[in-house]
Order: sequence, then C-alpha cells, then structure tokens
Amino acid sequence: MRASKYHINTLKEAPAETEVASHRLMTRAGMIRKVAGGIYTYMPLGLRVLRKIENVVREEMNRAGAIELLMPVVQPAELWMESGRWEKYGDELLRIKDRHQRDFVLQPTSEEVVTDIARNEIHSWRQLPLNFYHIQTKFRDERRPRFGLMRGREFTMKDAYSFDRDEAGAQASYDIMFQAYMRIFGRLGLKFRAVAADTGSIGGSRSHEFQVIADTGEDLLVYNPDTQYAANIELAAAPCLIEHRAEPKEELVLTATPQAPKCELVAQQLGRPLSDTVKSIVLATDPAEDDADGQVRIWLLLLRGDHELNEIKAGKLPGFERGFRFATEAEILDSFGCVPGYLGPIDTAKPVSIIADLTVAHMSDFICGANREGYHYTGANWGRDLPEPQSADLRNVVAGDPDPNGGHLAIQRGIEVGHVFFLGDKYSKALQATFLDTDGKPALLQMGCYGIGISRISAAAIEQCHDDKGIVWPRAIAPFEVVICPVGANKNEKVGNISEQIYLGLQEQGVEAILDDRDIRPGVMFAEWELIGVPLRITVGDRGLKEGVVEIQARSDAAAVKVPVEQAQAAAL
Ligand code: ATP
Ligand code: MG
Ligand code: MG
Ligand code: MG
Repeated sequence: MRASKYHINTLKEAPAETEVASHRLMTRAGMIRKVAGGIYTYMPLGLRVLRKIENVVREEMNRAGAIELLMPVVQPAELWMESGRWEKYGDELLRIKDRHQRDFVLQPTSEEVVTDIARNEIHSWRQLPLNFYHIQTKFRDERRPRFGLMRGREFTMKDAYSFDRDEAGAQASYDIMFQAYMRIFGRLGLKFRAVAADTGSIGGSRSHEFQVIADTGEDLLVYNPDTQYAANIELAAAPCLIEHRAEPKEELVLTATPQAPKCELVAQQLGRPLSDTVKSIVLATDPAEDDADGQVRIWLLLLRGDHELNEIKAGKLPGFERGFRFATEAEILDSFGCVPGYLGPIDTAKPVSIIADLTVAHMSDFICGANREGYHYTGANWGRDLPEPQSADLRNVVAGDPDPNGGHLAIQRGIEVGHVFFLGDKYSKALQATFLDTDGKPALLQMGCYGIGISRISAAAIEQCHDDKGIVWPRAIAPFEVVICPVGANKNEKVGNISEQIYLGLQEQGVEAILDDRDIRPGVMFAEWELIGVPLRITVGDRGLKEGVVEIQARSDAAAVKVPVEQAQAAAL
C-alpha cells in the first residue's frame, strides 16, 4: 500500500464525548467514524484491524473443527416466539416490521436460527458432534452504548453453536472451544484471563468469560495468583454473601437515609412501613426468570431473620426456588438507568419489582465489611459511593473450593471479549430439535454457545496497549505491520529508490507494509504513524544513507536502531 493512494485522516483532537483511550485514539487515528449512538463506520484502517482479528478467530475455529456458515441479521419473530425470547429478551432486542406488518428482529445472537437449522439438518447421531459458527453483524439496543466499539449497538461477533448427542459430548465440545479461545487470545497478543462465570438458569459450572486485562474494564475479576482459581466478581462473591448473612449484628434501617424517596418506593413495593427492620439484604436476580442474554429483573431482598436466609439457602423462598444470583453492575445499569453511585430518580415504568441502587462494587464492599467486622449494611451507608474492594478484604470471602487455606486473592478489572456457555437442551427442547440416537429413539440435541466480540477486541487491545502518542498495536492485529518513511526523497533520489526497494521486498515476503510517499514533513509523518500505532517504522534518510544505514523504530521501544540498508528487510520480518 502507498499512503498517497490510501485514505489516512487523523485528528489532532478527539470529540469531547470520547471518554476512554480506545474510543479517543480510534477516532483520532481515523479508524472509526460515528454514524449514530453505538453505530460506527469502520474506516479503511479500522476495517483492516477487524479483518485481522476475524482471520485469527476463523483460523482457530476451523482448526478446532467448527464449520463456518452465515446466518441472517434479520430473523423472523416466529422463531423467537418458539424459544420464548421474543417475550423475555427485553429492550435490547430490536424488533422491526416489514411492509406486510410481519415481525422481525435484528439478531443479538443466533441460537434460534441455528437450532432451526439443526432440527432440519441433523437426523442421526452419526452426524454428531457438529459445531456451526459465523462472523456476523449483531444488533443490541444497549441502554447506554458507550466507549466506541467497546459497547456498540451494532457490532461484530463470532458466535458458534455446538451440537452433541449427550452431556459428555457437549462437555468435550465445550473443552475444545475453551482451548481454541486460549489459542485465539494468545495469538492476538493480549494479556487475558479466563474466569468462571455464572450460568444463570442453565445451572452447572460450564460458563467462562475471557477477559482482557485493562483498568478501564467494566468487569471485576477475582483470582488467586498461586492457584488456578479465577472468577468474575458476581460468582466469586455469591457464596460468601449467603454465609456472612448468617449472624447479622446490625440492622438495616431504611428511613435514616438521604435517599428517602427511593426507600419509600421500596417500601411501597414491599407493602410495609419503612420502620420495619431488616436483618440482611441481598441484591439478586431470579435464575428461573433470568436468561443468559434476556431481560433481567433485579430484586432487593430484605430479609428479616435467619429463617428467611435459610429459606433462600434451601431454595424455598417463594419465587427463588432455584436459588439466586447476584445482579451485575451492567444489569443494574440496564434496569435502573443509574450508573454506579448515582442516586438520581428511578424509572418506575421498568419491570423491576423491588429496586435499589447498590452496585457490584457496593456489594463487594458490603461483603468485605461483613467479613471484616461481622456487620451488615446499615442505613448510614446506603447508596454511598464506596471505594473498590481491596484484595485483602476479599481474602477470606470467597468460600469453598477456591482456596480453603485462605490464600491470597487478587482483584483486577477486565473487558469481556469472549464467553463460552453450556446450554444443554434449553433451545433444542423449546424448538424440538431432536435426532435419532443409537437406540433408534429421538433425543434432544445438547448444545453449547460460544461468542467472541470481534469489534470489542480492537478496542480492548488499545485499552491495554497505548501511550501518550497513540496506539501500540500487537503485531498480529495492526492495520499495517511496517511503515516505510522516506525522509528527503526530493533532495536525494536514492532515498526514494531504497524505500521503494525495501517496500517491495517486504511485500514479497508477505509482510503488510505501507510506504509513506506523501511528501509531508517528517515530524508530522512520524506523529501520525505513532498515533495509528504501526508496530515498526523504517526511516530511510539522506543522512543515514551516507553511512549506509536506515533506522528501525519499534513502536513499543524508546530508541531506534540503525541497521545496514541491505539488512533492513530481514530486520523487519
Ligand atoms: P456484556 O456483559 O459486556 O454486556 P454480554 O455478556 O452481554 O456482554 P455475550 O452475550 O456473552 O455478551 O456476547 C458475546 C460477546 O460479544 C461478549 O463477550 C462481548 O465480547 C461481545 N459483546 C457483547 N455486547 C457487546 C456490545 N454491545 N458491543 C460490542 N461487543 C459486545
Ligand atoms: Mg450485554
Ligand atoms: Mg457479560
Ligand atoms: Mg457474556
């Protein structure tokens, strides 16, 4: 590629709305342009990054035996009614009508369509196992699209769906995908961690998120550096919340708070006066109603005594027979429209039964507090903007299997870039997707689903790798691997010729190189490529050529190295 024939348009300043580095830098580098909230054009440079991520994902999916197909973005409502998600999914599902007033959705994922394919295509156990995947545009009408490609409304996802004869087979397919994900994120050159995640109404322990480590991540991860243990905060904290409820020493008095209106609302919903004392609280969702990607109702359970706690533990609390799980920060945001710590009005039109403005961070602190001092969340602390939990605080909090000896636990922030999930017969049952088993009888297909946020990865990579000059791409996903910058080509013909030679040589070797033949000031040229984040720059200058050298500057290194002209090409491989 020659820069003069390409489209490069960088900006000195980023729009004020760009809050995080990736959004700011992708906009400034001319990789994305906003079309509407959460909807972007991938500009040429940005598209190159996306394609590279896609290719790594595709190669590894193929290697793992998954088979690519392409399912539609627009899907008929009927299939969604069959699965029950037409009712359950909530506002994130964009519903549209065609000219005949028939209902359709823009797919947020494709369980329905793929299960429909499976029930038509898979007849016998001999065809199993099968894993279909596609890389396709998704649409989720996120309540708060933000951070550019990090949380878009229209975005690109790889989603795969495995089909097996039985649970053991489904477990094997899950393990294969897990390993494929480890390879994918390793190849992409990212620091990441696989963490155990909640399985919601599916139950079992087969759900893992792949999290890119970054301070700006929306998720909190708990891990033990000395063992294999790693889980997201919702899962890590859940058991101990129940444990530490057992002997409450203080009471929650809702009246004594500056957020009286909200408490009144809680009281109204509870149908009892505010002066009622409450011994423990749990912010929870009901797995029976909960869907992996569907609408979530968040409950503030105000428990008045140990008997209620025991009921919860035993799964006997009415409406919570299947246990409960923590509401996540994102779910709270989605349900209440309030960001963590925000105490503004609550949208009562939302289908929320009992509401609160606690967040995961609040809950963690609450849990830590309970652990440290054995007390419970009191009225005085209600809604306070609490600091993030410290690792020491959670040390003994995560009960059971992670570390019975009370070892060290650490917390870090992450960006969810992938998710593997065991589905069992959830969709095959709803859509009656069966096959004839070895005994000749029909059986339900056992399924798993596996997502990777292709476009989110590009943003996550930048959150992890950037400096004050711009992006520092891992080579595997950089828009170009090498840029050749001639300096003073108009004065010395040799500069242009040698630049051209190196450029053509690299191209021949399959390196994605770009020759900056735009005849602009070197300072401007360098700053632009540093902003764009190309991993390697070769500067061919008049002065260097007199010594027979060119300069090679790695984007991630402080200093450039001088290399004899004839070795330049090899040095850039
Ligand atoms: P989140 O918790 O961030 O909302 P999710 O759990 O709803 O994500 P999944 O349903 O697990 O997402 O989808 C699989 C992957 O798709 C996620 O791991 C993430 O990488 C990506 N993804 C989900 N929502 C978005 C979005 N709004 N913009 C970009 N990528 C997304
Ligand atoms: Mg989501
Ligand atoms: Mg999630
Ligand atoms: Mg997820």
